[in-house]
Amino acid sequence: MDEVFLLKIGELSLKGLNRRSFEDLLLKDLKRKLSPLGTWSFSIAQSAVAVAPMREGIDMDAAEARIAQTFGLAAYSRCARLPKRMDAILDWAPAYLEDSLRWARTFKCEAKRSDKTFPLGSPAICADVGEALLNAYPQLKVDVHHPDVVVNIEIREQYAFLHADQKRGAGGLPAGSAGDAVILISGGIDSPVAAWMMAKRGLRLTAVHFASPPYTSVRAEGKVHRLLGKVANYSGRIRLFTVPFTAIQEKLRDELPEDCLTLLMRRMMMRLAAQIAKQEHCHALITGESLGQVASQTLRALDCTDAVVDMPVFRPLIGMDKEETCVIARSIGTFDISIEPFEDCCTVFTPKHPKTKPKRAELEKLEAQIDWQSLIEQALAETQMRGINPECNLGMDLFVK
Ligand code: ATP
Ligand code: MG
Repeated sequence: MDEVFLLKIGELSLKGLNRRSFEDLLLKDLKRKLSPLGTWSFSIAQSAVAVAPMREGIDMDAAEARIAQTFGLAAYSRCARLPKRMDAILDWAPAYLEDSLRWARTFKCEAKRSDKTFPLGSPAICADVGEALLNAYPQLKVDVHHPDVVVNIEIREQYAFLHADQKRGAGGLPAGSAGDAVILISGGIDSPVAAWMMAKRGLRLTAVHFASPPYTSVRAEGKVHRLLGKVANYSGRIRLFTVPFTAIQEKLRDELPEDCLTLLMRRMMMRLAAQIAKQEHCHALITGESLGQVASQTLRALDCTDAVVDMPVFRPLIGMDKEETCVIARSIGTFDISIEPFEDCCTVFTPKHPKTKPKRAELEKLEAQIDWQSLIEQALAETQMRGINPECNLGMDLFVK
């Protein structure tokens, strides 16, 4: 008996002719995540990937944690991989399932036979395995409606797989299958969740963060690195561009009306992010905005921010309540970091009475009073890039562009 992982592929099983390229990306991501733990064999058949360690002593718990953070998987389970014979299945089932069954009161068996030449049908497989388990665990009863444990027996092409309940996978599409986009990342709750949601749909992320020293601190930037480390656990390495924003904010604050300040700032952020996106071959921007959350996120305000860029702007949180966002933030591990109290550049310059119904023309007229193009060029010239690895092992490639 070998212990292996059986992974069920998700939405990509619906793909037609290009399914193969999605599967290749999924395998690439799995190999990237698992190879630091040891050598594995991967085989893909019938909407499932079997991942088997090639030697003893590989940390299966660590591997499971990484599989749980892989996009493109609907479900996964740790299983016994057995020869396709009933005697082998019946011999191994009681011992292999001990951890799941020892404290259970009820169970049921489910069998799937993708190899139709197997001598027993699914009901007969269930009956035999059920009987072996009832003999081994006298406290157990069968409950087909609400069992504590579901025991699965899958007869596949080469092997039989035996496992207790399968776990839900991260869902979505394989990392990198949807192309490249820039996430505007602050240290708040929303933008890391937005990053994760779009990475889940297969986007490869490049991050842009606006820092306003001395108004914002080095610790605020550290917070962004740690947040991206959490997202990178799923998406893979993320390149982070940190743009100095102080000069732009001071210019806007000193020379233009206060009630438009946040929107003018946001338009500058979008312009800068779009420039970086083009330079880095990204084709969309992502923000953590949610309709009506603050003055700069009203319908009219979003119209004014979108007007300065010529690429799609994805706002996956647009229809979500804060509490719904917090649920995801907790589940991906970003919430506790996001609520650490360091100032973001948006909050230090917040006007007392921001406009909620701005007009594009009005903002354009104000912007014509300053030389914003050269401010943008200056900020881009001083932008720094670094790679953020999963769980924030900062990359070695810190350099000034
Ligand atoms: P929260 O609303 O939880 O405080 P947030 O990240 O959504 O966090 P907002 O002020 O609502 O903060 O900003 C709206 C969006 O603008 C963010 O989701 C993010 O995409 C972008 N943004 C805000 N501040 C920055 C920044 N300093 N650098 C990069 N992007 C930013
Ligand atoms: Mg927000």
